[in-house]
Amino acid sequence: MARNTDPVCKMCRRDQMKLYLKGDRCFGPKCPIDKQKPPPGMHGLRRSKTSEYGIRLREKQKLKRFYGVLEAQFRRYYGLATKAVGNTGEQLLSILERRLDNVVHRLGFAVNRTSARQMVSHGHILVNGVKCDIASMLVKPGDVIKVKTRDSSLKMARDTLAKGTVRIPDFLELTGTQDQPEGRMNRTPTRQDVDERITDIREQLIIEIATR
Ligand code: SF4
Repeated sequence: MARNTDPVCKMCRRDQMKLYLKGDRCFGPKCPIDKQKPPPGMHGLRRSKTSEYGIRLREKQKLKRFYGVLEAQFRRYYGLATKAVGNTGEQLLSILERRLDNVVHRLGFAVNRTSARQMVSHGHILVNGVKCDIASMLVKPGDVIKVKTRDSSLKMARDTLAKGTVRIPDFLELTGTQDQPEGRMNRTPTRQDVDERITDIREQLIIEIATR
């Protein structure tokens, strides 16, 4: 399974915005963005004016990094979004929100999408009672997501829920208890349900570059 292995804080510094890729450190005083560290590289502070193409590319990179998807997967989601009824940009965001690793994170079972992805790929998550280890699987309304009854996975989910750092969105519902975490997707996510940390993303610019 391919994944992006670039240093994560560097990705945030490149876009000069918090992408919340590191769990607790993102909320603490050590976050390089809070410390106002410049973009990486020798000429980080002296980059020339960004072109129209560059602006669109940065929006796309931001979105891909935030949800932890690579280019091939992004193209697949874009293909699905173009076939769906409605605004393509909004459909793309909705599809990304339906990824299993995103749902596990937004239900509060994992502190960030990277940990959620690891929980899924290590087989700690059940979808409708069946083990699912594919982080990119798209969850459907009515699906029930449960943490497997195994000490290590349950502990991680319980600890994250106890911290309460993740706000559960309206399209998801926590149905289990803190001892036996379980959640359900009640409806398809819309533009309003997109993670509040990336709501200012300009999806129209992303679609403009994706159509090229
Ligand atoms: Fe690093 Fe998290 Fe801060 Fe991004 S938000 S720079 S991943 S600590």
